Amino acid sequence: MESRRIRRVVILGGGTAGWMTAGALSHSFGAAVTVTLLESEEIGTVGVGEATIPTIHWFNSLVGLDEADFLRATKATFKLGIAFVDWRAPGHRYFHPFGHYGAALPGVAFHHRWLKAATNGLALPLGALSLAERLADENRFARPSGDARSILSSLGYAYHFDAGLYAAYLRRVSETRGVTRVEGRLNTVERHPDTGFVSALTTSRGERLEGDLFIDCSGFRALLIDDVVGEPFEDWSHWLPCDRAVAVPCARVAPTTPYTRSTARAAGWQWRIPLQHRIGNGYVYASDQCSDDAAIATLLANLDGEPLAEPRLLRFKAGMRRRPWRDNVVAIGLSSGFLEPLESTSIHLIQSGIAKLLTLFPDRDCDPALASRFNTTFARDMDGIKDFLILHYHATGREEPLWRHCRAMSLPDGLRERIAQYRRSGRLILDPDELFREASWLAVLDGQGIKAQGYNPLADAIDPAANRAQVQQIADVIARAVPTLPMHDAVLAQMIGTPS
Ligand SMILES: Cc1cc2nc3c(=O)[nH]c(=O)nc-3n(C[C@H](O)[C@H](O)[C@H](O)COP(=O)(O)OP(=O)(O)OC[C@H]3O[C@@H](n4cnc5c(N)ncnc54)[C@H](O)[C@@H]3O)c2cc1C
Repeated sequence: MESRRIRRVVILGGGTAGWMTAGALSHSFGAAVTVTLLESEEIGTVGVGEATIPTIHWFNSLVGLDEADFLRATKATFKLGIAFVDWRAPGHRYFHPFGHYGAALPGVAFHHRWLKAATNGLALPLGALSLAERLADENRFARPSGDARSILSSLGYAYHFDAGLYAAYLRRVSETRGVTRVEGRLNTVERHPDTGFVSALTTSRGERLEGDLFIDCSGFRALLIDDVVGEPFEDWSHWLPCDRAVAVPCARVAPTTPYTRSTARAAGWQWRIPLQHRIGNGYVYASDQCSDDAAIATLLANLDGEPLAEPRLLRFKAGMRRRPWRDNVVAIGLSSGFLEPLESTSIHLIQSGIAKLLTLFPDRDCDPALASRFNTTFARDMDGIKDFLILHYHATGREEPLWRHCRAMSLPDGLRERIAQYRRSGRLILDPDELFREASWLAVLDGQGIKAQGYNPLADAIDPAANRAQVQQIADVIARAVPTLPMHDAVLAQMIGTPS
């Protein structure tokens, strides 16, 4: 058994995916496995990827990062959710908060109580029942409480950070734990003549990196999983037509908003991600609807501060590889697939790839059953996120050609049924391991204008007047709590040790 153990892992690529994988493996295996990472400064990284979702806490704690140290090193800010501006229609705004709505009352899920209260005359917007949203509105921030009786227990949070600094931070942590970084371009890939397994990478500088397991973190190039193993890419651009982005940082403005802003535009949407030292901005667009020059002009015309660099153009295609693990090659990060950054899911997908790899870590024979499990769960993750993103594009009243096309396009079956079920009965029927849970689907369905016509009959066990009063009471508790909670900039300054 011992002799079959994997002893040497080689990671190709040192972007966010490469260094997250190196950090996790070195932390988890210690000296039992040697980790070597090959990257090329000349090629560089994608370098964007600045907004995260609350699952990031799992990864940061897995690799043992101290929160204050992490905030300082990556110039991070806190994120309570995403404000969607002009998506349903120009002039409309809604918020997708982290955490959950209302309070955990016994019986039926809270949103059915809200729906029932609405039919009994309580016209309360969903946002009034989210502490995270109300805090974001006022640039305030608080951490979740573990006490289920406190309204603070309804909160969730993530971070915005500088992706380049995060990778550099993880590199320092990984190198301290013994990861060897090799600089250079990939030259050739050697394979075992009998098994076809990859046995070594050679570099442009003449080094030879032998390994038992190879992690492809080479980004969109997908140098191992595509070029060597030949795993095809499944194209989803008929559902998610944006295929380019132009990104530019600009000077920061105070106060720092504790949320990402996503503004729909004629040919796509624009992100705004506040960091401690700057604001990250980008316009994600469909290249058949907008030229690169027009996209750059739109982005530069919609910045809060002066641009701090030349706009940077990125090309991509939505889709994935059904089998990111084949033989002894595992693709993690952009090499395994890409879904545009609308819900900040790529870094989550990296860490969920790492979590799966740790759970299913093979011996040298790379048992195909382990790979198969990895691949099935990865495909399920991607499918679920894809459907959630499509919902944003589809449920809109905007009139530009891109949006009219998305409104009319045929949807994946599961998504079509989910929307219809919510519309009919207010029911959100999710699989147990889906990433986005009830609160997220509810935020976007309601925010994009899909209204539930029914609710779970269980809610009828509650007296209508009592239900109305309780729902209103929770909104009041939230409204009273908000002004008592600190400003986001003050919490940040206290954490990183600078005056606010
Ligand atoms: C427009 C845009 C916005 C995004 N925004 C977000 C966001 O807000 N939140 C989020 O979670 N994610 C976001 N992402 C995704 C995020 O940027 C990526 O998931 C993340 O950066 C991981 O990239 P990677 O490490 O897989 O690839 P890369 O960053 O491309 O790294 C690839 C690595 O491979 C190396 N390499 C490539 N070829 C060779 C070679 N021949 N020899 C040696 N080394 C080689 C490179 O040097 C580099 O080190 C965004 C992506 C895009 C395109």
